[in-house]
Amino acid sequence: MSSPIPVLTIDGPSGAGKGTVSRLVASRLGWHYLDSGALYRAVGVAASWADLDLSDPAALVRCTFDTAVEFREQADGLRVLVNGTDATGELRLETTGTVASAIAAIPEVRAALKERQRAFRRLPGLVADGRDMGTVIFPDATAKVFLTASADERAHRRHKQLSEKGVSVTFDGLLREILARDARDAQRTVAPLKPAEDAVLIDTTGLSIDQVVERVLALVPARAG
Ligand code: C5P
Repeated sequence: MSSPIPVLTIDGPSGAGKGTVSRLVASRLGWHYLDSGALYRAVGVAASWADLDLSDPAALVRCTFDTAVEFREQADGLRVLVNGTDATGELRLETTGTVASAIAAIPEVRAALKERQRAFRRLPGLVADGRDMGTVIFPDATAKVFLTASADERAHRRHKQLSEKGVSVTFDGLLREILARDARDAQRTVAPLKPAEDAVLIDTTGLSIDQVVERVLALVPARAG
């Protein structure tokens, strides 16, 4: 399944800086951007709105097929519409991340979202951010990155981000949630969180966003050298 359209995959655990780095890299390259976590989060939001039982996989799979997700680039950033309603704020909540991670462990949900993710591959290129971009969705990607950072550093970053938005959460609670989500994402049987064999590992602990962006850009063939 080789495609002439270049893809750069950026995978890694939550809070490693994937979202910020991927958006900046996509903008520098002038490529499209796929936030695959937002798709799982969108299904999570739709499931919560419908008050679905998270232990009922059949209902969650139906919900995945029935949920329309639309990404809209606006002056104030990317807005995400779930079944026509702007759910951008709700999407970013830690509780939504936890629901998304439970839903993401269901193989049929992952299968249902596969083609939707691949449809983002359009010229001139795509930066795809997630957990299994390089291993499952775009195994033929042009370049693959796996971003990590210590759990402590990730919890600190998330804490700062949320505090700036006026959301009050404790550092210890965040660290616990991050560790639990990592464990669930790494231990699930389908598409567990792990670097692709041909991915370049970048530990972002102690690096600035600009430093990470430059390292990632250097891996894209057209820009290397
Ligand atoms: O990246 P983000 O934190 O938005 O992802 C939310 C959850 O969605 C993750 O914890 C993970 O369980 C799931 N996810 C996934 N595969 C992806 C992207 C996200 O399983 N490619």
